[in-house]
Amino acid sequence: MAFLISASLTEEQTRFRQFLKEEVLPSLSSWNRSGRIPKEFFRQMGKAGWYGFAVRTGGLEKHSVLREALLSEALAAVSPGVAISALAHIDLGFMGLFMFGPEDLKQRYGPAVVSGEKIMCLGSTENIAGSDVAGIGMSAERVSGGWCLDGTKAFVTNGAIADLAVVTAVTDPDADRNRRISMFLVDLGASGIRRKKLNKAVWIPSDLTRLQFSGVFVPEDHLLGRRGYGLRQILEVFTRSRIPISALTLGTAAGAFELALTHGLKRRAFGERIVDFQAKAFEIAEHAARIEAARLMVYKACQTADSGEDFRSDAAMAKYVTVDMARKVTAWSADLFGAASVIVDHPIHKYPLDAWASSLGEGTQDVQKLIIYREVLKKISPDPLM
Ligand SMILES: Cc1cc2nc3c(=O)[nH]c(=O)nc-3n(C[C@H](O)[C@H](O)[C@H](O)COP(=O)(O)OP(=O)(O)OC[C@H]3O[C@@H](n4cnc5c(N)ncnc54)[C@H](O)[C@@H]3O)c2cc1C
Repeated sequence: MAFLISASLTEEQTRFRQFLKEEVLPSLSSWNRSGRIPKEFFRQMGKAGWYGFAVRTGGLEKHSVLREALLSEALAAVSPGVAISALAHIDLGFMGLFMFGPEDLKQRYGPAVVSGEKIMCLGSTENIAGSDVAGIGMSAERVSGGWCLDGTKAFVTNGAIADLAVVTAVTDPDADRNRRISMFLVDLGASGIRRKKLNKAVWIPSDLTRLQFSGVFVPEDHLLGRRGYGLRQILEVFTRSRIPISALTLGTAAGAFELALTHGLKRRAFGERIVDFQAKAFEIAEHAARIEAARLMVYKACQTADSGEDFRSDAAMAKYVTVDMARKVTAWSADLFGAASVIVDHPIHKYPLDAWASSLGEGTQDVQKLIIYREVLKKISPDPLM
């Protein structure tokens, strides 16, 4: 794995990989079979400080984006499904609370979330609206002391296991499209919530769950950010999580490629190792270069974010490039295993499906192109010589 994941490992990366080897790899096939990630995994990650946050005296602190990306890449190389669950917990669910929650709400829930005691998810997508984040229909009506939520979030990663959800709902149906929605923190133990785990074939063993809300009371202080600003806020969360999901996608490709190369060195056909056929050798060279190019894009996006600059364009480009690369690399990697690749329990089988799933989270490839296009136009000077 060494040359694909990172040339020189930090002490922390080495410890993390040891953790993956000892605590995740031996249990992975049983988690995959049951379609369940035990809560203990979240606690172990939290205890070791491997989420993107730390609890410090006086509040919560965000770690460097690059550090988190390196860990996400390494986790995804082993299991993209486990990596997406960690991502949905921290970079989607908790990020909504961290960025927009009132201070006392962050203090109340933050430490338990960052330590993995409480698990989070985020529900935006509904049957009527996915890419069109503003088009949701879940309603939030004003009631005494808070809000009453009705509607269904159709596809929620961690929805089956989460204690808390960040959701968007329409508080101002008659307002302008950009001011209709608000963001809420919901305790999933509240009455009126039904969960239905969906039967999916990607990102195993994470769950994908439908959350149905019927007259769910949400207290006043659980409104995150400003009323009517939920659209802008959720798009900010997605902009941020686009970097970790790019790292996850990079890890998905690197993990598949690593498996394929290990196999190709051993597998012989017509008296030769299959990696030594020139056709395969050239493909290996192309994919290794593709992975490395995508890695540079991801790390550049991390650097831009860590230096406090506008990373919108870098994040969308990193996501677009890694997904495009991962689709090619994982398909090639599966192909190198021949017929064995179609066996559901074979380690390579899930990688192409997981690369496909990566194209949906945090915006499809079309959505990334729309963002990149807008960012490119912003940079065009009306006077090219200036
Ligand atoms: C495994 C998995 C986990 C998920 N987890 C979560 C989660 O935790 N929380 C959550 O809220 N959602 C989650 N989702 C949902 C995901 O975010 C959406 O599937 C995604 O945003 C796309 O929305 P959609 O499925 O409604 O497709 P649509 O928005 O209907 O898109 C369908 C097609 O139309 C294209 N399209 C749409 N708009 C445009 C446009 N303007 N220009 C060009 N093409 C366009 C899309 O690119 C796509 O090809 C998950 C999905 C999957 C598969």
